[in-house]
Formats: sequence, structure tokens, C-alpha cells
Amino acid sequence: IQPEHTASSTLPAEDNGMLQTADGAQILLSINLNAPDEIEGTAAATTAGIGLMRSEFAVASLADAANEEKQLAICRRVLDWAGGRSVTIRMLDVGGDKPLSGLTTSSELRGIRLLLARPEIARVQVRALLRAAIFGNLRVMLPMVTFPSEVDDMRQIFLEEAAELARRGVPHRLPSIGMMVEVPTAALMLEQFEGADFFSFGTNDLAQYLAASTREDADFAAHREKTAQAVLRLLAYAVKLAGSKPLSICGDMAGDPHLTAELLAAGIRHFSMAPAQLPAIRSAIVGLNADGTKAAGE
Ligand code: PEP
Ligand code: MG
Repeated sequence: IQPEHTASSTLPAEDNGMLQTADGAQILLSINLNAPDEIEGTAAATTAGIGLMRSEFAVASLADAANEEKQLAICRRVLDWAGGRSVTIRMLDVGGDKPLSGLTTSSELRGIRLLLARPEIARVQVRALLRAAIFGNLRVMLPMVTFPSEVDDMRQIFLEEAAELARRGVPHRLPSIGMMVEVPTAALMLEQFEGADFFSFGTNDLAQYLAASTREDADFAAHREKTAQAVLRLLAYAVKLAGSKPLSICGDMAGDPHLTAELLAAGIRHFSMAPAQLPAIRSAIVGLNADGTKAAGE
């Protein structure tokens, strides 16, 4: 027995990541995964599912990126864990702070730009995702989208590969295809992304690009803190442009309880974070109203 862990408030809440603010607004809490192994310590019933799986961490080499069966197995593992809950797998976001030997160069060619420049690699993952989609509630998320045409071009690849799988008689399904909102241009022009089925804010990249800094910079932590208000202002603006499409936040800000009030005020209702942050965000939410003000008695 560990006395410090016996308080019921520290037990994981099996609420399927669905809770309410003090004044009754519905909130969803999902988790971010880096390595697929990270699901082992978390009960799916404490989450609304996976709001971001960074697939690049499951792909250690160019050989992995070219291995459709291995990628399918990884997708199936997290879909099985989720038990029908929503699972958002982001396509390879290599480049920038996440190099992959043989694929990335030192330039800003990363995320979807790199995938579209190397379609033979993208198509492997697209086939794995199409095949995985029959095993659960899969959503595919595109990284580092800057222009609407990038979403349209990747959707076209999904349609072509789906047609090819159909021709070969391979079971598959077209998942919903959404995008990270993590490049300032995309956030400012969000209403133009008609081809995206859903949006998720990546505040880590928004912060670095708004601050003209990089995550490798020794001063990035300070830059990020100083730019937080600018990121929040941009989020509030972009939320209004998102219309009725599903919207979430999966950058690190989502797991910072000091920012929960301001994120609620900006209109965010779905938060995805590292599993360890769930309890802190849960208790922050229940003490706040939907407009971010403190609940009476708090
Ligand atoms: C982000 O940029 O906020 C994000 C969630 O993506 P990553 O941290 O993997 O770049
Ligand atoms: Mg990012």
C-alpha cells in the first residue's frame, strides 16, 4: 500500500474521457502517444481515445517506412486497445526536429510536404491505414499542412490506393482525413481547408513558428512561454474559422493545467495530451466554466 496514492481523487476516472465544465459544457479528453508501448499503462476507459499518435516514432528507419505489414500491425494494436474509441494516427511527420536517415534532408522539407515529395513512401503508409481502418474507429491526421492543395493531393492518394486495394480484393475502408493546424498560415486561413474532415491544433509548432525560434534552440522554453499569449490569440481566431468541423488541440498546451482556462475561453472543447497529464486537466476542467472563468466556490 502506498498511502499517498489511496485518495480516490487520484484514481483514474473511467469516464471515457467525457466530462463537463462546472456549468455543463461537454469536454473530451484524449491521449497522445509517441511509442505504441505507451498505451500499456493507460486504461482506454479513462480516455475518449487517442487524439494524436505520432507514427514517426513507430518508424525507426527507412526500411520500417517501407514496411506496410509492420505499420498495419502497429495501427491494429492501438485500434484494439481503443475498443471502438476514436484513434487518430498522424501520418509520418519526419523532418525538422524529427529526422529519419535516408528520408530527411536538413531543409524545411518535412511533414506533408515531404510525404508528397516522396509519394512511394507515403503510399505504403496510406495502404496500411486504409487496411487498418476496418478494425476500429480510425481517423488519419496530416502533419504540417500549410496549403489546402496538400490535403487534396493526399486525399487523392488515399482514393487511388483504395481503388487499387479494391481491385486486388484487399479489405479496407476510407478513414476520415483531417489535419494538424500547426503552421501559422493554415491557422489564419482555416476556413479554406474544405478538404479536411477535422482539425487539431499543434501548439508546439505554432509556438516555434510564431516566435521565429526552433525546438532545438536552448532558449526555446523561454520563447515558448513568451509567445503563449500570441498562440492563444491565434487559436481563438482560428476556432471561429473552423465552422462545424470537429476540432481538438494536441500540442503540449493541452496538457498544461495553467492554460486550461484560456483554452476553454478560446473555444476548445477537446483536449489531447500525454497520459500523465489526464488527472491534472480533469481537475482543472471541473473547476471552470466553459468561458474559462472559475466556478463558484473554487
Ligand atoms: C505540435 O506541433 O504541437 C504537435 C502536437 O506536433 P509535434 O509536437 O509532434 O510536432
Ligand atoms: Mg508539430
